[in-house]
Amino acid sequence: MSPSKTAFIGLGVMGSPMAGHLVKSGHKVTVFNRTPAKAEAWCEEYGGERAATPAQAAAEADFVFICVGNDEDVRAVALGDTGALAGMAAGAVLVDHSTVSAHLARELAEAAGACDVGFLDAPVSGGQAGAENGALTIMVGGEEAVFERAAPVMDAYARAVTLMGPAGSGQLTKMVNQITVAGLIEALAEGLAFAVNAGLDAKKVVDVISKGAAQSWQMENRAGTMLEGEFDFGFAVDWMRKDLDICLEEAKRNGSELPVAELVNRFYEEIQKAGGGRRDTSSLIGRLPRGNGVEK
Ligand code: NAP
Repeated sequence: MSPSKTAFIGLGVMGSPMAGHLVKSGHKVTVFNRTPAKAEAWCEEYGGERAATPAQAAAEADFVFICVGNDEDVRAVALGDTGALAGMAAGAVLVDHSTVSAHLARELAEAAGACDVGFLDAPVSGGQAGAENGALTIMVGGEEAVFERAAPVMDAYARAVTLMGPAGSGQLTKMVNQITVAGLIEALAEGLAFAVNAGLDAKKVVDVISKGAAQSWQMENRAGTMLEGEFDFGFAVDWMRKDLDICLEEAKRNGSELPVAELVNRFYEEIQKAGGGRRDTSSLIGRLPRGNGVEK
């Protein structure tokens, strides 16, 4: 595709490599990061430009991407006098890759529409490795015509980019992902702790059952490290708590019951209170008694 003028706001674990892939795909990239030192380091590594505010970064861009933290953080960089929307030209497209609520996505779509700017909520799945390898799965909400324009640009860091429906549908799809993953990780933690306590060779158990119906991405990628007590693999408990809170709020609105997600959210809260908020989500196993003395 022909090169576009882009802006990327938020150079964290995910945003930094995603913006790097835009440069590698030939797009012009101007970045903004709240902590300027990170933007400086990013420019040194990738050779893009940096701006002093989101509005300035967005000023000349056809596509503006955001990847920050929670609802409040997205509001801070998208709205207000120095927010991205204030700088964007009519006809440009704003894409939010952060995991936030569906009602914020709809609010942003409305605010963008009032400025004649297109908006897509486009949360991602695939973690740090997916961002670094340019292999994220992106679930998108918004208008089809806007999606058709932005999808080829997002291809720079995606394995799959799928339009799920109108504004908010991307965030709702990401909620389904998080609800499913939370239960899977707890089930895996319980199974592994049980295997250890039963005196089985837990690694051999995983080898066997991962070839059957219990197989999952979590089992393939995390079972070994969970047994070793290694919990430094990207997606932090703090982020998962944010996501599960969003899911539980949405469930109240749409009449869903999420008893397992609610319970796992409480388990993650315990881990946060014990100082493990930056550990990755597989640290759930640390709550469970095991006979092999793996450190909690
Ligand atoms: P991160 O490493 O903590 O980076 C967060 C970024 O957002 C940083 O650049 C930070 O700036 C910026 N930021 C936060 N609050 C801000 C505010 N109020 N104003 C301006 N900038 C602000 O986070 P991440 O892991 O990249 O995650 C980003 C988003 O992707 C989150 O919504 C997360 O849930 C989602 N996500 C993450 C993963 C993952 O595996 N990490 C996977 C899927 C989805 P500073 O540098 O100044 O702090």
